[in-house]
Amino acid sequence: MLNPKIQEALNEQINAEFWSAYLYLAMAMHFESEGHAGVANWFRIQFKEEQAHAEIFINYIVSRGGRVVLKPIAEVPQTWASPLAAFEDTLAHEQKVTAMINALYALAEEHRDYATRGKLDWFVAEQVEEEETAQGLIDRLKLTGDNGLALYMLDSELAARVFNVPAPLQSAE
Ligand code: MG
Repeated sequence: MLNPKIQEALNEQINAEFWSAYLYLAMAMHFESEGHAGVANWFRIQFKEEQAHAEIFINYIVSRGGRVVLKPIAEVPQTWASPLAAFEDTLAHEQKVTAMINALYALAEEHRDYATRGKLDWFVAEQVEEEETAQGLIDRLKLTGDNGLALYMLDSELAARVFNVPAPLQSAE
């Protein structure tokens, strides 16, 4: 039986993951319309990853006999001045998500809910990766500056990103 406070926090996290998905889909649509096909593809994959994150939490609540509550998704920004601005927003957002995951982890420890704490381990590692990736792309875009050829090459690289089903969902299948 899930502690009600933990269940509520997990449901908040589901909402945050869907908000993230919505944010990255908005970024994908923006860069699609701006002709940055690779950047748009990268954010479309990010959109799918965030939906997968939500699904991992959904499956977990179900497995614990809890109740999933789907709350409204708040409005997201729709335009960005440049790919660099979008990746800077991505990093800032992922840092907030990391803080949420850490708070959930602390809550699970406070209630001695070791099953939830264990489930969160994957997310702790995932957040390190999310922040590292966003920071890496920010660094590269800063190096690239206004160099058209370098931007074209980076866009082509981002166009090659494909979606991989996250490990916790693979084992659930
Ligand atoms: Mg996420």
